[in-house]
Amino acid sequence: MIDPKLPTVIVYGHYDVQPVDPLNLWDNPPFEPVIKDGKIYARGACDDKGQVYMHVKAFELMMKTNSLACNVRFMIEGEEEVGSNNLGTWVKENKHRLKGDVILISDTSIIANDIPSIEAGLRGLSYVEVEVTGPNRDLHSGVYGGAVGNPIQVLCKMIDSLKDENNHITIPGFYDQVLELSKEERAELNKTPFSLDEYKKDLKVDDVMGEAGYTTLERTGIRPTLELNGIWGGYTGEGSKTVLPSKAFAKISMRLVPNQTTDNITKIFSDHFKKIAPKSVKVEVRPHHGGEPVVTPTDSVAYKAAAKAIETTFGKKPIPTRGGGSIPIVALFEKELGLKSVLMGFGLDSDLIHSPNEHYGIFNYMKGIETIPVFFGISRR
Ligand SMILES: [Zn+2]
Repeated sequence: MIDPKLPTVIVYGHYDVQPVDPLNLWDNPPFEPVIKDGKIYARGACDDKGQVYMHVKAFELMMKTNSLACNVRFMIEGEEEVGSNNLGTWVKENKHRLKGDVILISDTSIIANDIPSIEAGLRGLSYVEVEVTGPNRDLHSGVYGGAVGNPIQVLCKMIDSLKDENNHITIPGFYDQVLELSKEERAELNKTPFSLDEYKKDLKVDDVMGEAGYTTLERTGIRPTLELNGIWGGYTGEGSKTVLPSKAFAKISMRLVPNQTTDNITKIFSDHFKKIAPKSVKVEVRPHHGGEPVVTPTDSVAYKAAAKAIETTFGKKPIPTRGGGSIPIVALFEKELGLKSVLMGFGLDSDLIHSPNEHYGIFNYMKGIETIPVFFGISRR
């Protein structure tokens, strides 16, 4: 706190990371950072250690040059990737330590280094693990095969039924709360510079796949999703073992958009999934973490300050975009503290966050350090 009369910026970020596996796909050990081709390679380089560290360095710079223009509080946590439950509790109990005017977060990306952007919305998340149990033990597939429900096959069928031929999610009520954008808003969103060819080339796929009637930008920005994140069961080791397994499992995540809520979607998923199970199996659904979707207004003082700061350092006005990812705590900040967040991130979608060989551009890191003090300076006025 340098002056109670000045605005207070709360800087939020996280130092926890996603698991590193498959480890053999990393060119360098994930926790021994390497600088190569103008990029820092390490798990967390972009998401979010590198971006948090820009704030530390920018703060150091402002202190050294006596140019800190606002009060600042840092709130750096270690459970973002698993849903921020403990921070949520802490925020509720420590509101007096979190008085401020805006929450500044660098945990998102820009479109390209010459096309700056600010994410003006984030999808929420409902994440579950399902367990399908058939017979009470693994069975000989010759003796019992063909006569007893196979949990893996049952699970595959159940999962397959969750989307129709248009990749529309079939869970009753799933889309009921979805805020439909107007034609104008959709047109505006689709003006975001984007090349489907480049996108496919980057992923080495011949075609994309998603909900019929929506563009790739819409599918990742304003539409909810249901994705299988992992599936296992039976015998997958070396050689052969012809079992009819007792159990099969899957992890399933649903990205949510305004005004869907985590609790409701988790509940209707769970009810539906149990309902579609044949009598030959038992189904359990265990909720993992979740997070509510948010829209951050582009007419707020903080958004405008971020836009001006980026325009100053990049020489171009940033484009507002809708991010496909989730930062679970943002909705809670709004609800508990009444504070809007501004998502001034500097990563690139190609930074391989959550994947092997995650990296962060030195250009982006330096631009971040340059832009943050400008944001503080503009916020002071
Ligand atoms: Zn992150």
